[in-house]
Amino acid sequence: MAAYDFNDKIVSIPDYPQPGVIFKDITTLLRDAEGFQRAVDELSNHFINQGITKVVGAEARGFIIAAPVAYKLNAGLVPMRKPGKLPREVYSQEYGLEYGSDELQVHTDAITKDDRVLLVDDLIATGGTAVAQAKLLSKFGATLVGMAFLMELDYLNPRKVVREATDCDIFSLV
Ligand code: AMP
Repeated sequence: MAAYDFNDKIVSIPDYPQPGVIFKDITTLLRDAEGFQRAVDELSNHFINQGITKVVGAEARGFIIAAPVAYKLNAGLVPMRKPGKLPREVYSQEYGLEYGSDELQVHTDAITKDDRVLLVDDLIATGGTAVAQAKLLSKFGATLVGMAFLMELDYLNPRKVVREATDCDIFSLV
């Protein structure tokens, strides 16, 4: 199959949502039937046959990619959500963003120590979200097999930050 330019389908918006940030709009990739399908296939294929039992996605854009990847890997889907969205007992983790700070929560019974977990998000920028997710996962004692992203902003050097928290396989399409 011919190579597909994912980067070409993602639009950069300078100074959004604040000056100095180049916002990467992935909705232009998602709306492209071939692009969306190829993106989900490539992320899933990279982690196939690795015994992934749970795919974790962070609110909100992470859900869009994590759900079809979980389906393709025959794995369960675990949403990590913003505070106040999950109805039962949760673990919480605060973290810094490229713009601002936030908090993620996950149900305390969502994952077990025997799970082999893949984190999926649309984009990794500073790595703060990914590290917060890895910290939440460590509370369960589960194995973090890898992290998968549509796009990695390597000029923000997220791998350095993530590597300090985990040595799992990091895979980005762009
Ligand atoms: P970070 O924690 O800095 O790695 O940021 C990752 C999360 O923030 C992802 O879920 C993205 O959706 C969002 N994000 C951060 N920076 C950008 C950006 N420049 N363009 C689009 N989304 C971003």
